[in-house]
Amino acid sequence: MAKLRLKKSVKKVLLFLILFIIVLIGATKLIKTYKYHQTYEYKFLQINYNLDEINILTKYLDNRTLDKLLERQYDVNIPKVINKKYFLLKNLDRYLDYIPKNPDKSIDDCIALVNVNRDKPYYEDLQTTKESDGIAMLVNKYHALSKDYEPDDIVKVSTTYSYSGMSLKKEAYDAFKKLADDAKKEGYTIVILSSYRTYEYQDELWSKRKNKNGIEQADAYAARAGSSEHETGLAIDVADYNHPMNFGEQESFTWMINNSYKYGFILRYPEGKENITGYDYEAWHYRYLGPELATKVYNEGITYDEYYEFYLNK
Ligand SMILES: [Zn+2]
Repeated sequence: MAKLRLKKSVKKVLLFLILFIIVLIGATKLIKTYKYHQTYEYKFLQINYNLDEINILTKYLDNRTLDKLLERQYDVNIPKVINKKYFLLKNLDRYLDYIPKNPDKSIDDCIALVNVNRDKPYYEDLQTTKESDGIAMLVNKYHALSKDYEPDDIVKVSTTYSYSGMSLKKEAYDAFKKLADDAKKEGYTIVILSSYRTYEYQDELWSKRKNKNGIEQADAYAARAGSSEHETGLAIDVADYNHPMNFGEQESFTWMINNSYKYGFILRYPEGKENITGYDYEAWHYRYLGPELATKVYNEGITYDEYYEFYLNK
């Protein structure tokens, strides 16, 4: 009898063990599933992203941003923009709006254009230039100087370095003198053709055109008051004194391209970047940013509009 009872209790224990193992496996599975459901992989799969796209999203975005994306519908362009060098999270909606409307442009171009506000017409949504940025201030068709802005330290430029009647911010002038002196040692006489202009003067330039030929013609010809870099006292138009025509075709131009940044000047309206800068290619127009910033912009190989919006417009 005792043997039988023992057998029965062993059976019971075994049965209990088997049941316990089954429950344990079930529970583990449930926990696993529950845990998986908490992952971004699962959550993004639910809104139709594929695994490759999810890998990009989770690699480049922080949890807060990922949570926000989960509230949106699937967009094929999100994984395409977020791993680009100049992607700015604050512009995400504008990229997603701009890209489908511009299928002829690359994703990189779309990002660059939106970053410099080209998804909006010129002069619309005009912001006031952050004048506190000093020599780094951005002036273009989206960032305009206020009517009252008057740069300090404007000094007359000697006729050794310019045609008469020019003036410039002292820091930029000192830098230009060094540049011009060094260029001369190489056999190039680079002179200033145009420099500081007042707001009123720029307004006069533009208004005359507008009254004669209408807004469109005036905008094609000149910047509106507040939107010309010349009003900062930090921009110059130059020429080769010995070859006054077609600066872009002169050896002195090549020297400028290769050296001007060392003195703090950058070519502000490069060829092929017209849609970014809002200006035709101007081989003669240089902007003073100081040697440190000018070297950074030069090495980055992008326009100042792009550089400012990406690195400085915080
Ligand atoms: Zn100019």
